[in-house]
Amino acid sequence: MSAGDELKSDLSKALPAQSLIFEREDARPFESDWRGLVSNSAEAVLLPADTEEVARIVRICAHHRVAIVPQGGNTSLVAGAVPIPNRRQVILNLRRMRTVRSLDRTNGTMTVEAGLTLAEAKAAADAEGLLLPVGLASEGSCQVGGNLATNAGGVQALSYGSMRSHVLGIEAVLPDGRIWNGLRALHKDNTGIDLKQLFIGSEGIIGIITAATLRLHHKPNRFATAIIALDSLDAAMTAFLRLKAAYEHDLTSCEYFTSQGMALALKPPAQNRDPFGESHDAYVLVEVTAQGADRDPAASLADALAGLFEDDIVQDAVVAQSDTQRAALWALREDISEGERTEGGSVKHDIAVPISAIPSTVRRLHADLAKLFPEARLNIFGHLGDGNLHVNVLPPAGGAPDQLARFAPEITKLIEQSAISAEGTFSAEHGIGQLRLQSLLKYRTPLELELMLTIKKALDPLWLLNPGKVLPVEEE
Ligand SMILES: Cc1cc2nc3c(=O)[nH]c(=O)nc-3n(C[C@H](O)[C@H](O)[C@H](O)COP(=O)(O)OP(=O)(O)OC[C@H]3O[C@@H](n4cnc5c(N)ncnc54)[C@H](O)[C@@H]3O)c2cc1C
Repeated sequence: MSAGDELKSDLSKALPAQSLIFEREDARPFESDWRGLVSNSAEAVLLPADTEEVARIVRICAHHRVAIVPQGGNTSLVAGAVPIPNRRQVILNLRRMRTVRSLDRTNGTMTVEAGLTLAEAKAAADAEGLLLPVGLASEGSCQVGGNLATNAGGVQALSYGSMRSHVLGIEAVLPDGRIWNGLRALHKDNTGIDLKQLFIGSEGIIGIITAATLRLHHKPNRFATAIIALDSLDAAMTAFLRLKAAYEHDLTSCEYFTSQGMALALKPPAQNRDPFGESHDAYVLVEVTAQGADRDPAASLADALAGLFEDDIVQDAVVAQSDTQRAALWALREDISEGERTEGGSVKHDIAVPISAIPSTVRRLHADLAKLFPEARLNIFGHLGDGNLHVNVLPPAGGAPDQLARFAPEITKLIEQSAISAEGTFSAEHGIGQLRLQSLLKYRTPLELELMLTIKKALDPLWLLNPGKVLPVEEE
């Protein structure tokens, strides 16, 4: 029997048929990343039904020395959840583990399995009048386990923080198959090293997250959403600072995009409409919320915007008058990535810099790209209030994507350098995966890399979990 057949035989003995995919054709959709950039084959795709099955899979794979690629919704933008070449691997997808194990309204917590999609987890909280304040355009597909493993950010991180701030407890299967039950629902617990933090953002390289206890918030009972049109990024920065000063925590989103992003969001098949009569250089989508009956955020946002008009900071603004209008404004921001896909894709980057360094960083990006590839289109958008900008470069309008491919390494260097020299980071939300590994080696210090490797080797000495992601592969 071949090594591959022996593995499949052991998996078949230990797991029910619904948990196993061995057919090549059935496995293929799991093997390519969301952007279609990376595709490598796996010996099997495993769909465990519960934590015990995950542990069994890990023990069998450890015995056969076959690596495991944990996979959630496979929406990673850095090819984190698909196999690497030249290594025996299986994909372990958590989509069948979608139980809401408990929801405690008094404690404001919910324990869910890792395969629940973010949208489903939010709906479960919403049904109890509670809020899981994580907003990603991928939320219909991405899973809570993937959100934890990537410490996802999104459009509400400005006010509520990234995924890490919503986690009180974690259950994970370790690389040797033991189950760690750290599902504590405590708002305070200082008893030694906070182990759950190791797993959050670790991109599946030291454990498979199977469940989590999440902290929920009370749902604000009123929102006000507006899109503001401005003539420059500098004006957008001024508007953000004024609104932040006025609302602080109640300013839950502040999303920036340009005329480039607006044009992409208006591309079919998206069915969006430009809310303004003419194009503007900059747009900011803001949302403010309120708890309690005495404050009307719509009226107060209208006042705040009137002040910005009076001071010549904004050129135009539209405040949503209904949930439908609110959704239509948000669609403009959320459909930018899809618009890039219809244009044949882009070289994508996800940088963060101190908020004060945003204008100079953007100026530098424009100047450097103009020298390297003047015809390219620069599409910068993102979470202004977090200093987090998605910096994407598209081929010239009507140009072929391979034109862009030739410049891609230089574009990457230029964008990463612009962030690093502003004391920023080359990956704010998307993580490292396979695509940013060389950048991690370049920009994190030797001591930081040594500490990361020490943790990896201590927990996963056989290098079984997600090899080739985050850290370079080191065998036994
Ligand atoms: C249209 C679009 C918009 C996006 N917007 C944002 C955004 O605003 N902010 C943001 O932060 N990200 C964003 N992303 C990126 C992506 O959606 C997030 O990183 C998301 O959290 C990934 O979840 P997932 O379930 O798809 O994980 P996957 O893509 O399946 O996996 C991501 C990584 O986590 C690991 N992993 C997955 N599940 C587990 C588990 N249970 N245990 C251990 N490791 C696991 C994988 O091995 C991989 O390394 C966006 C992506 C798309 C396509």
